[in-house]
Amino acid sequence: MNDLTNPVEVLGIDAGGTMTDTFFVRADGTFVVGKAQSDVDEANAVLTSSVDALAHWDTTPEEVFPQMVTCVFSGTAMLNRVVGRKGLRTGLIVSKGFEDFHRMGRAIQCYLGYAFEDRLHLNTHRYDEPLAHIHDTRGVTERVDSKGGVVIPVRLHEAREAARELVEQGCKAIVISFLSSYLNGTHERAVRDVCLEVIKEMGSNIPVFASVDYYPVRKETHRTNTTLLEAYAAEPSRKILANLSQRMKDVGAKYDVRVMASHGGTISWKAKELARTLVSGPIGGVMGSRYLAEQLGYENVACSDIGGTSFDMALIVKGKVSMHQDGDCARLVLSLPLVSMDTIGAGAGSFVRIDPYSNSLKLGPDSAGYRVGTCWPAGGVDTVSVTDCHIILGYLNPDNFLGGILELDVPRAKQCVKEQIADPLGMSLEDAAAGVIELLDLSLRQHLRAMISAKGYSPSDFVCFSYGGGGPVHAYGYTMGLGFKETIVPAWAAGFSAFGCATADFEYRYDKSTDIGITKDSTTAEKQEAVNTLGACWKELADKVMEEFKINGFTEDDVTLTPGYRMQYLGQLNDLEMSSPLSDIGSPEDWDKLVATFDETYGRVYADAARSPELGFGVTAAIMRGSVETKKPSIPSEPDAGPNPPAEAVIGERPFYYGRKWVTAKLYKMETLLPGNRITGPAVIESDATTYVIPTGFETWLDGHRLFHLIEV
Ligand code: AMP
Repeated sequence: MNDLTNPVEVLGIDAGGTMTDTFFVRADGTFVVGKAQSDVDEANAVLTSSVDALAHWDTTPEEVFPQMVTCVFSGTAMLNRVVGRKGLRTGLIVSKGFEDFHRMGRAIQCYLGYAFEDRLHLNTHRYDEPLAHIHDTRGVTERVDSKGGVVIPVRLHEAREAARELVEQGCKAIVISFLSSYLNGTHERAVRDVCLEVIKEMGSNIPVFASVDYYPVRKETHRTNTTLLEAYAAEPSRKILANLSQRMKDVGAKYDVRVMASHGGTISWKAKELARTLVSGPIGGVMGSRYLAEQLGYENVACSDIGGTSFDMALIVKGKVSMHQDGDCARLVLSLPLVSMDTIGAGAGSFVRIDPYSNSLKLGPDSAGYRVGTCWPAGGVDTVSVTDCHIILGYLNPDNFLGGILELDVPRAKQCVKEQIADPLGMSLEDAAAGVIELLDLSLRQHLRAMISAKGYSPSDFVCFSYGGGGPVHAYGYTMGLGFKETIVPAWAAGFSAFGCATADFEYRYDKSTDIGITKDSTTAEKQEAVNTLGACWKELADKVMEEFKINGFTEDDVTLTPGYRMQYLGQLNDLEMSSPLSDIGSPEDWDKLVATFDETYGRVYADAARSPELGFGVTAAIMRGSVETKKPSIPSEPDAGPNPPAEAVIGERPFYYGRKWVTAKLYKMETLLPGNRITGPAVIESDATTYVIPTGFETWLDGHRLFHLIEV
């Protein structure tokens, strides 16, 4: 029933490749999670998932949507469109003579995402299809030098010809990206205007994107890829989101849908730069972890998310997530600020094979996707997956997969694991399946440890959050022996990314490359000039931020602007991103304050002894973030009910294979457990979309915020 004294206020959506999760939160922090099979029409899946979630409260979208205040969407459709090269046909105009640089991919795209051993071997390198075909690429004579000066004026008659040909050839969008345009955008803008004129003359209305208007940053391959994504992948998403927004309005919604962006904030679906939402779901999980950490006082958190296809890890240090300025995604180098995450292609649905050369087990990198494994009732998957092994060993309940809407084929899974794994290795069925689980746990554990130590930390500095449908299944296995302060499994692990999206700020972030350098011999006048240049960039970016907020009806008074910058010791390759200690700058002394903040951060990130102020300091980018207040979910807070689970939480027993023997695991229903309840392994706590495994030697208890704490005893 819809309770108007405790209204439903927040909706987070995670539209994954296989499942669309919805996460609804009431004013008092109570929540429900809904699941539905993803659909080409994302609006259908969101509405079906919403019906599923709200049924737990005996209500419907029609009753609830009109009173809601916030809705945040994340999805994989845009990314899938790029990976599958199914985007909008886009024409590309570049500086004449440089028509091939896009498909050359800076020579590194051909091995991006490869394991180290494959990077070393040229014969494994492969070039993906470029986003804009060479036949849809045109060169226009022009040249701006590396200081922004015009060396060759732009030949607009060539631009006119290029635009006409691209439209005639059937391109549905045009992107313009010239060398050094981030220093001087006049040529790109002139060509943009010519293209728009030609398009109009030809009776067409396709969009035109000049890279300087979107991503005024150095590195032309990164900039061109990112601007191309705006046309190729984001334009179709804009239509899908418009449809989703409309369908929700039809059911009475009054909120404006926001989308999770790769920088960790959310932006309106109407935003000009929608390619920034290319990676959204996994970022939601990190933002959710940050929010929980902030609310509950955890300073350092290792985030770990296992879904069907991948394991995503990120670190929160002293409450902050770190950012990549030009990370890569989908084997493309990009200019998008990206929350730093490490991903490996090993998940709960990964395929398992025997390597014919070493006769040993090999996991992934491909996975069974939505058909989970050979146990999929309708068949169609012939290779064994990790999920098949979970079922054989009693980790997962085949009658409760997605709440029991699917009846998994256990005999077939057993037969396939026997034939493909157990018999060739000369092992029993259960030992072979247990070997697969141990291998996955070991691999995840090693990656987690490597990611943490590569950044100079130890697991003992961190609390580990484990989520995603598969996180609770493996939390014990991949944290065992690492020495985390604690391992925490939220009771809403399966919908955690959707929850995280709802916790993120409504925030735009824009970046601009700068070439500011000050050495110890620089004069006060030079420092003044540096401050003036950075201040002007901040002003330009702040105007861009305000332009976006105005689309949603916000004024200057509603928006909090936070300037930032990237700084480096002059001559070093890496820079660091920082929030500015000053909201505005104007004097040479302000420069010293920016430098002091960087110097202190550098010492913290690396080591005090590594600081090198004698080299001087350079600002490589100006950053501006603008945010407005939004309604966020409150964290549940429930009273302690003592250590013994209530009778209705105990749902039975089943055989469970662990430590090379069959034992009897007690089964519990996750939703009916109460704060304070303590459960000792072997036990399995079941929910409709996730399963929390507590083997012998482990114990768990539920706190008042519905977070399970996993303890090695
Ligand atoms: P996600 O991609 O985050 O939805 O996670 C999907 C994974 O959750 C599956 O591959 C399963 O291994 C795991 N899982 C655990 N319990 C369940 C359950 N009851 N129903 C569906 N998936 C489950």
